[in-house]
Amino acid sequence: VGRPTVFVRFGGCNLRCPGWPCDTPHAIDPAFRKEWKLQEPEQVWEEIAEVAGRRETPDYTVCFTGGEPFLQQHRDLERLVELLKSQGNSIECFSNGTLLYPDWTFGLVQFIMDWKLPGSGEWSETANLVRLKNLELLARGSTIKFTIASREDYEFAKDIYNQYIIHGLYDYTVHYGVVWGQLANAKLIKWVLEDELPWYFNMQIHNVVWVRSQRGI
Ligand code: SF4
Repeated sequence: VGRPTVFVRFGGCNLRCPGWPCDTPHAIDPAFRKEWKLQEPEQVWEEIAEVAGRRETPDYTVCFTGGEPFLQQHRDLERLVELLKSQGNSIECFSNGTLLYPDWTFGLVQFIMDWKLPGSGEWSETANLVRLKNLELLARGSTIKFTIASREDYEFAKDIYNQYIIHGLYDYTVHYGVVWGQLANAKLIKWVLEDELPWYFNMQIHNVVWVRSQRGI
């Protein structure tokens, strides 16, 4: 938050999150498929530089998001990461955590793994098992994110944190925020403060600065 960021929105998602309106329907809904572009890693790399204004020093972050980035061919993603790293870019990846992260991402990509809760309509035991495996692969400094729609979701998030994250080998950061329009920010923050959880409040800043889900900003 607060750093200039170029978002790369990969088309396609293996989830649908029926519990809330996905904020990126144009990346997941086949109705928008004709807007998607099939590009080689080199083309994506070129376009990122174009969007960022071809700066000498990469003083911006590149954020892979979607949809779900890890539905893409891994060899293409790896090539794109190589290209960006050769220029010194920092790379973040928002991911729903339901697909196993490959070893080559370790240390190169900082993940923000979205741990879906019941309110998303996409909570499942199977997905949780994959997320637990991914926890072992996440680089130090990566982030687990809870998007919370209700008190029930909050209690679920606390259980996950207490069971798997607080005693983990690595020092993960936990970010939390509300499902847009379903829970008041102040209410959720109060619960977290009352429970003295070392979590960081996070909001979709682009939705505050610009019109919600405006494209091409
Ligand atoms: S995982 Fe993310 S991109 Fe996929 S449907 Fe859910 S909110 Fe949308």
